[in-house]
Amino acid sequence: MARGVRVAGAVRLVSSCEKCWSDAHRGPDFSVSEEYGRLMDERRLSPCTPEEQAGVNAMTCPGCARLTLHQHTLEPMCGCEPPPAYRQRGH
Ligand SMILES: [Zn+2]
Ligand SMILES: [Zn+2]
Repeated sequence: MARGVRVAGAVRLVSSCEKCWSDAHRGPDFSVSEEYGRLMDERRLSPCTPEEQAGVNAMTCPGCARLTLHQHTLEPMCGCEPPPAYRQRGH
């Protein structure tokens, strides 16, 4: 998923970890966003791989040929130079 975050009046998409986001869906008794925040804290010292963060529908990164372009925002989770498609979205 991608959250819209308000920065100086403009909404900017922030890439979230798709694996943690899906792990945060624990059932009707749990708040997904709270669980997601808890998982982020818990996994801070051993974060998910760039592929896991980018999601199952991730695109191939032109820089390193890994499936690390975030499935919603196209942000390279691997740390490579962002592709033009990502920059065109106004990042
Ligand atoms: Zn994660
Ligand atoms: Zn890359």
